Amino acid sequence: MYEQSQAQTQTKKLVIGWFSFTCCEDSTILFTELLNKNLDNWKKLVEFRHISVLKTNNILKDLDVAFVEGAISSETQAEEVRKIRDNAKYVVAIGSCACSGMPSASRNDFVDEQINERIQWYLDHFDYSDKVQKLEEVIQVDDKVDGCPMNVPSFLAALDKYLKVFEIT
Ligand code: SF4
Repeated sequence: MYEQSQAQTQTKKLVIGWFSFTCCEDSTILFTELLNKNLDNWKKLVEFRHISVLKTNNILKDLDVAFVEGAISSETQAEEVRKIRDNAKYVVAIGSCACSGMPSASRNDFVDEQINERIQWYLDHFDYSDKVQKLEEVIQVDDKVDGCPMNVPSFLAALDKYLKVFEIT
């Protein structure tokens, strides 16, 4: 009885994940910078269920929103991001690399004479797919926050939008 009434009084939070694939992670840096000012308030509204950059115990399950930074450059990454899609109600592409592929997808435009020994070494020793893909070439994307790195006001607007979608105040 006590447990039931305690559960009923618990406030619903927006359950989010933050993920990075092939990129320089500058949007992740901007996100952590935003925590300087917003963490105390966001903790009341947001559950950070999966955010590897901040903690080691992460759960990929029942996310309301997954924020995904970076392009997809291998089949291993494609499998990971499909798993994220399967466990999130909404997916938001973060930054130009996730939204359009570029600049991470620059290697798609290499011509043979540009692939020198050094570049070939990387292609041979890592699990790269033939082409670097933007996020929506691999999974369905619900929203995009463009910019290189991400446009901060657009990210804050997206977060606010999903707080409203899930009626969290
Ligand atoms: S969009 Fe720009 S800032 Fe973001 S990961 Fe790609 S290169 Fe880095």
